[in-house]
Amino acid sequence: MLDAARLRADFPLLRQREHGHPLVYLDNAATTQKPEAVLTAIADYYRTTNANVHRGAYGLAIRATEAYEAARAKLAGFVNAWATEGVVFTRGTTEAINLVAGAYGRAHVRAGDTVVVTAMDHHSNLVPWQILCQEKGATLRMVEISEDGRVDLSDYGRALERRPKIVAFPYVSNALGTVNPAAQLARLAHAVGAVVVVDGAQSTPHLRVDVQALDCDFYALSGHKMLGPMGSGALVAKPELLDAMPPYHGGGEMISRVWDDHSTYNKIPHKFEAGTPNVEGAVGLAAAVAYLEGVGPERIAEHEQALAAAAIDRLTQIEGVTVYGPRDHRAGVVSFTYGDIHPHDIATILDQDGICIRAGHHCAQPLMRRLNVPATARASFYLYNGLDEVDALAGALVKAGALFGYVPA
Ligand code: PLP
Repeated sequence: MLDAARLRADFPLLRQREHGHPLVYLDNAATTQKPEAVLTAIADYYRTTNANVHRGAYGLAIRATEAYEAARAKLAGFVNAWATEGVVFTRGTTEAINLVAGAYGRAHVRAGDTVVVTAMDHHSNLVPWQILCQEKGATLRMVEISEDGRVDLSDYGRALERRPKIVAFPYVSNALGTVNPAAQLARLAHAVGAVVVVDGAQSTPHLRVDVQALDCDFYALSGHKMLGPMGSGALVAKPELLDAMPPYHGGGEMISRVWDDHSTYNKIPHKFEAGTPNVEGAVGLAAAVAYLEGVGPERIAEHEQALAAAAIDRLTQIEGVTVYGPRDHRAGVVSFTYGDIHPHDIATILDQDGICIRAGHHCAQPLMRRLNVPATARASFYLYNGLDEVDALAGALVKAGALFGYVPA
């Protein structure tokens, strides 16, 4: 396992205490904390390099543009993008998927076509497709999940018989922790001629991602979930698809020439980056990528799997606790309920011990319906969490249970 205590020292916020206790931050699937290296990169950018990018003829603006484009190249290398120009900076996964639905989807999906999603998709990888299908008169086909929280491959096969135009799924589920067989799902979808959109919000921070090996067509990620700044992220796409797509947002920077009644467009990726971009976000995200590379995605994945396994082991020993999702092929997300205690109550009680977990539907209401629960409590781990924090979680849960009359086994 990683030396979590040593890594934690790189994260200033984690030195804080909450309600007199050391802060135990277990809400990493929602957002992660930022290491000093990211904070410094952002501050240095503003102290030494800030100017608007791509437009300036003076040295400072050129250096700002270089910093922004170097960040793009860094991120491209991290996920083995098809090409650096196939990385479009966005506000995060949500905007990246809306870009694909709004530009590629609008241009290619027609009445009677099918778009496939899964019952474990985050609303970000569901609602944009609902909007598209409603607008076009197309059908949205949701693939069911198995009892243990995996994509039901038989139902996936049946959905593909409709020869969908687009197939979208999460690499890792934010609510169950399931690591989907993304390369296999992409291969099957391509065999029926579909374009494949992977929601990488929960995979990019936690696994070694190689989009070319996955062989998807579009891959969305969020910087803030991988130690980077809020409002940073990207769409990583096959350049030829981006080239052929109409623009998404109109405005400055995405054009080539503008006449009174029409325009021609800039080359990719700029065609999809209208207006002044989040340069600070890109620079901070590049610093986050450097930090993650320093630790090593494989070691991070191994560390989180060990924490999740320990947490599942501890939690399932508490009478009344149900843990959702598969026992293998999973990431460091542990969703659970505790008898009839409302997950919000669990989260509020744990907060008194300085433990931050999430409670709610995790932006996956169709999934919650299938689990027959309105909400779950969710602990999600990252590289700076240790086994001591799994102990703290389990201990605090037992205390919470006692308040509600549950007796630990
Ligand atoms: N997809 C998944 C699986 C997520 O977990 C999240 C965020 O929780 C998103 C998409 C949306 O990400 P963002 O809010 O950064 O756009």
